[in-house]
Amino acid sequence: MAVKTEQLYEGKAKKVFATDDPALCIVSYKDDATAFDGLKKGSISGKGVVNNRMSNYLMKKLEEEAGIPTHFVEEINDREAVVKKVSIVPLEVIVRNIAAGSFSKRFGVEEGTVLLCPTLEFCYKDDNLHDPMVNDYHIIACGWATREDLDIITDYTFRINEYLKNYFKGIGVDLVDFKIEFGKTPDGKIILADEISPDTCRFWDSKTHEKLDKDRFRRDLGNVEGAYAEMMKRVFG
Ligand code: ADP
Ligand code: UDP
Repeated sequence: MAVKTEQLYEGKAKKVFATDDPALCIVSYKDDATAFDGLKKGSISGKGVVNNRMSNYLMKKLEEEAGIPTHFVEEINDREAVVKKVSIVPLEVIVRNIAAGSFSKRFGVEEGTVLLCPTLEFCYKDDNLHDPMVNDYHIIACGWATREDLDIITDYTFRINEYLKNYFKGIGVDLVDFKIEFGKTPDGKIILADEISPDTCRFWDSKTHEKLDKDRFRRDLGNVEGAYAEMMKRVFG
């Protein structure tokens, strides 16, 4: 098993550590929560455990059942996992099945409107610039990814959406939208990295449309911990 060495990075929701194996790192999930580019700060008790366990579980399923290569290697405890170390493609890849959040605001489409087909957005990952939305031409021109990388990312992303939409439907949850990140391994392979969790997805109860994700924190809807715990219960029983 990989052994944790020095801390490489502390982000808003996770810490990343080097290990004695240069190809691997360990991610450690925190309970810290932020929203609106870090302007709103708080803590969601138990969130780190939910996000770690859910993300590991979903990545393993995506790898085994949908053939998507991921960074997941091994869960070492409730809050920590060993992952393949990648060079992150600096894009937030966002898929939407139902209008919500910034999409509704930007385009004046009422939240909850079922989109005629899934949509794909890329945002350049830079907090100082507020993660601006970019298109393929921007990405290729600036060298954030190549055409070939983007084709692979797009193919994986829609396959991930189909797999996850169907999986969550089975546990009574509508997958409204989500953000994923990809990375490149030293041998140049694109793989799914970062996390898939209630921090990075919008989950609505299929029947009641109750929000079961980070929007409860962003919008001060109350029962934030309850929503994360409910998602944990739906996934793990
Ligand atoms: P942020 O950087 O937005 O505050 P986090 O707190 O989630 O986000 O920090 C985790 C960081 O680790 C992110 O910048 C993410 O891109 C990066 N990361 C995720 N998976 C890997 C990986 N397998 N290898 C290297 N870096 C990763
Ligand atoms: N998202 C994320 N990190 C970000 C921005 C968005 O995980 O920095 C996720 C968010 O949880 C939602 C989806 O991406 O599931 C779309 O978010 P949106 O663009 O609507 O932005 P928001 O309303 O969250 O500002």
